[in-house]
Amino acid sequence: MANPIDADPNRQRETPAQRDGNAQQRDTPAAFFRGNPAPDARTGMHPIALRRAFADHLHYSRARESMSATPFDRYVALALSARDRLVDRWTKTQHTYYEQDVKRGYYLSAEFLLGRALVANLQALDIYDSYKTVLGELGLDLDELVEQEPDAGLGNGGLGRLAACFLDSMATIGLPTYGYGIRYEFGIFEQVIRDGYQVERADEWLRFGNPWEIERPEHAVPVSFGGYTERVPDKRGGFRVVWRHSEQVIGVPFDTPIAGYQSNTVNTLRLWSARAGEEFDFELFNAGDYVHAVHEKNQSEVISKVLYPNDNFDKGKELRLRQEYFFVACSIADIVNRYNRVHPDFSRFAEKNAIQLNDTHPAIAIAELMRVLIDDHLLPWEDAWKQTVGAFGYTNHTLLPEALERWPVALFERLLPRHLEIIYEINRRFLREVMDAHPQDQDRVARMSLIEEGHERHVRMAHLAVVGSHSVNGVAKLHSELVKRDLLRDFYDLWPERFNNKTNGVTFRRWLLACNPALAALVTEKVGPKWVTEFERLRELERHLDDPEFIERIAAVKRANKVALAKVIAQELDINVDPSSIFDVQIKRLHEYKRQLLNALHIVALYLRQKRGEQITPRTFIFGAKAAPGYRQAKLIIKFIHAVAYVVNGDRRHTGLRVAFMPNYRVSLAERIIPAADVSEQISTAGMEASGTGNMKLALNGALTVGTLDGANIEIRDAVGPENFFLFGLTADEVIARRGEHFEGRTAVAADPELREVIELISSGFFSPEYRELFQPLLDRLLGRDEYMMLADFKAYSACQREVEAAYADRQSWLRKSALNIARVGEFSSDRTVREYARDIWGLTPVEIDLGAAMSLV
Ligand SMILES: *Cc1c(COP(=O)(O)O)cnc(C)c1O
Repeated sequence: MANPIDADPNRQRETPAQRDGNAQQRDTPAAFFRGNPAPDARTGMHPIALRRAFADHLHYSRARESMSATPFDRYVALALSARDRLVDRWTKTQHTYYEQDVKRGYYLSAEFLLGRALVANLQALDIYDSYKTVLGELGLDLDELVEQEPDAGLGNGGLGRLAACFLDSMATIGLPTYGYGIRYEFGIFEQVIRDGYQVERADEWLRFGNPWEIERPEHAVPVSFGGYTERVPDKRGGFRVVWRHSEQVIGVPFDTPIAGYQSNTVNTLRLWSARAGEEFDFELFNAGDYVHAVHEKNQSEVISKVLYPNDNFDKGKELRLRQEYFFVACSIADIVNRYNRVHPDFSRFAEKNAIQLNDTHPAIAIAELMRVLIDDHLLPWEDAWKQTVGAFGYTNHTLLPEALERWPVALFERLLPRHLEIIYEINRRFLREVMDAHPQDQDRVARMSLIEEGHERHVRMAHLAVVGSHSVNGVAKLHSELVKRDLLRDFYDLWPERFNNKTNGVTFRRWLLACNPALAALVTEKVGPKWVTEFERLRELERHLDDPEFIERIAAVKRANKVALAKVIAQELDINVDPSSIFDVQIKRLHEYKRQLLNALHIVALYLRQKRGEQITPRTFIFGAKAAPGYRQAKLIIKFIHAVAYVVNGDRRHTGLRVAFMPNYRVSLAERIIPAADVSEQISTAGMEASGTGNMKLALNGALTVGTLDGANIEIRDAVGPENFFLFGLTADEVIARRGEHFEGRTAVAADPELREVIELISSGFFSPEYRELFQPLLDRLLGRDEYMMLADFKAYSACQREVEAAYADRQSWLRKSALNIARVGEFSSDRTVREYARDIWGLTPVEIDLGAAMSLV
């Protein structure tokens, strides 16, 4: 066994006492590394090796010494030290997949909302504690270095965060999988608040470099756009189609290691960056206009420049379609190349590859794989189609009509002429099948067509995704049922066996172990450390519920987390909040269907109650939410929350209420807020939130949910028990029924005096004296169609919040409910979700990675 101490040239400088300490530590590496020494002691896990690695990277990778190093230099030195320790596992993992020719899983997603990687990687390697000590000895604070890392914000919200949780679970379970996406130069915008309004700033997350990624220009892939298609005779007397593109860009892959938690598996997230193509350079530069050529070169590189900042909304912009095709074409080329290296033909493609589409953003992959198989590899249509359908699975994420992708046929024709031909042919064959099943039903044929007719024709991406996949899943039980019953009903009639549910989950490594170390330590003390990868073990906490000491320690942890968050709120917002008050949290993208406005209306009601002299339980309302830059109503709601906060926080006579809108909601901020939450607001209009995952993170950290029967709330309530969940509001079916009845918000106002007072106060300009009509657009929508049933649900919501107050007053009972939430949400681990995908859709099994036989390094 290579001993890090023997290899350390500084060893002779140790004092005898140090030597004794080190000799002890030498025999106490983490259990899972025992017998698996790194082939090179340079990457050993011993504290001496760790300290040496950090010092070396600071010196040789950053060219700094202790006086000149900035905190960011130190963060990078630490990150590179951690990355070095992933490399053997990483190369060995990839080599094992190749050698054993295992079936691969590919997760195609336009978004990966990763957040920070340092703590996750240190914990995966089990060197977090060692580095905390080692850095402490150098007078450095690990937590401070952690704060230097910018969030990788390559996503909008739940969909992108789900992809990130899945990467963590896939690696931890040991599944041979890859993530494929776009390396946006600018991730989700930074939100700053000016005078209560959201202002967007570019997110320059790569400005100082990214120590986790490795650029692989040798694996660059050309991607074509535009031009026309041509039929040319082939050798067999038939013809083949050639796509004469007019434009080409190059996709350069950047690989990021995704480490399994304390396992040997290290998978790859491959993100594509756009570069101008070489042929492009050649032509334009030869044409003589150098400056113009450079400008044009820039134009092709904009493809991977910026993430579209819309959550659950499709803007139909050409650049967005370019982004989608760009990363899909690169990824399919990569997948096919990897397969081709070891297989003589494509007859086993679907047997060896599972490709999951995270929503329809990558759905063009179905046409792209068909194009590659037919045009480049000359497969007959039927053979190509069989492999394609066998490989693809499609995950639907929304029922909202404004979020369903539809691309104008004219745009498709101009940008992807060959793909449009293929889509037409898929459609022709598919509609034949529909007509055979329903010869008399032309309406059905029109409804199911991949092409939406109308004054402008559109390609329906969801229909392409369903027709080209062997599996279609929703992300919570209710959502999957609504997909079958409403959104894709005709498809369910035709192919019921394709439809299934995969309720979302979150990784417990990030959302408990890393973000709430005190609670994680308490859980470990009670049920042992295995809960981190075996979620079923959380249940064993229930055995300790009658132990008052355990309950008090849960309370103490929550209290400490609230004190810590209160400090942040005081520092950043200059608002003093009382850690004894209820911390009531609503953190998620700002969207009307998520109903932050309902929450705000209720705060106004509480304010009025206080004015009337009613006693209310002190509460701190904490918001975090970005609005899409073009979503006017959502931005006005942000301003309204700030206007309410200004009045409520500034009222000297009443001190029980506080409203804190924390700017720039993102993964690293969620990690601070969630451990401190008492109440989790999951109050979407029923039938509109596909699943939610914030709901799971908050329950896992002991917050009690105030929620509607929507998305995964329903399953969370079933799991934790209805007595440990605050339910209110219309059901999905009732919401649909009200729509039919042309419900108006005014009706609800007339029936509820408290609501009337709230609306009148806002209408009077009380919250916007400088411009009384400021919030009129909000009121107009509420009092009219009340599309999101905010006024329809107000009374039930308000009554439910009174129950919350009463329940909080019974401290012991509340703590018990909180503990039961923690103990019973195990099934919302993304490990469970990913295992279900692997078993039901992908046909993947874990692969053991043996580090024992060291690979040749040359
Ligand atoms: C979990 C998470 C989300 C999703 O939250 P929902 O409440 O499910 O919408 C969005 N953004 C961030 C930063 C998250 O961590």
